[in-house]
Amino acid sequence: MNVNMKKNILMLTGLLTAFFFPNRCVFCGMTLKEGSCVCNGCLSGIELIKGPICAKCGAPLRAVGTPPAKSCEQCTDLPLDYNKNESLGIFTGKLRELIHLYKFKRRKSLSRVFSAMLLKHKKNYVVSHDVLMVMPLTGSKRNERGFNQSFRIAREISKKVPVMFYGDIIKRKGRSRPQSQIAARKERFSNVTDRFIVKERHTGDLRGKNILLFDDVLTTGATASACARSLYQYNVKNIDILTLARALKEPSMFNFNKKGR
Ligand SMILES: [Zn+2]
Ligand SMILES: [Zn+2]
Repeated sequence: MNVNMKKNILMLTGLLTAFFFPNRCVFCGMTLKEGSCVCNGCLSGIELIKGPICAKCGAPLRAVGTPPAKSCEQCTDLPLDYNKNESLGIFTGKLRELIHLYKFKRRKSLSRVFSAMLLKHKKNYVVSHDVLMVMPLTGSKRNERGFNQSFRIAREISKKVPVMFYGDIIKRKGRSRPQSQIAARKERFSNVTDRFIVKERHTGDLRGKNILLFDDVLTTGATASACARSLYQYNVKNIDILTLARALKEPSMFNFNKKGR
């Protein structure tokens, strides 16, 4: 049996195990209490973004050069309308798998896992804002998935910290092609023609507020930027972004645990 066959068999076994024994860790197979699908050991193996980050998009920066750069190469020529983003980790490895399980396989128990991780590592960032909001899905995506995965996570967070939660006050109108179908970064910016409109009875609520907008993944930032641009029309003071993961073109370049980083 060659290595690839072995790998495929292992993967198949893992998938079957996850299917027949839903209360096992999706990574190591350990039995868990009901309603969980990932063990603490595997969770602690997720590499989080630490050290210097891009002041705009939250990507890790290499700590070299004097003075060290404030933003990464990806952000320098992009028109970003939000103030800054912070993410828990890079969109790769276990974190990416968990986000996929949550979004597309409906492992709703992960909303508790993600909110706990965000509260543990990003609490100071969250509480430095007045209002926590959620990036709305397009109508068709919402119907497809049946729930807004970001709403659940943000709602869990808001129960534990003193910030106002306006989870469902933005309507998203428009029919932009899914950003995931577009490779070129600049094209993604012109693709987002969606309008983000605050529901009428809440239009006065955002005036002068320092807002944190939560989404699952930040790729180019085009959608977050379009949403921020719309929100500034309601006289908000500032808009920052919080995401589970920052998607990078070459995630493997960022190996945090190696020396010299
Ligand atoms: Zn595990
Ligand atoms: Zn950046």
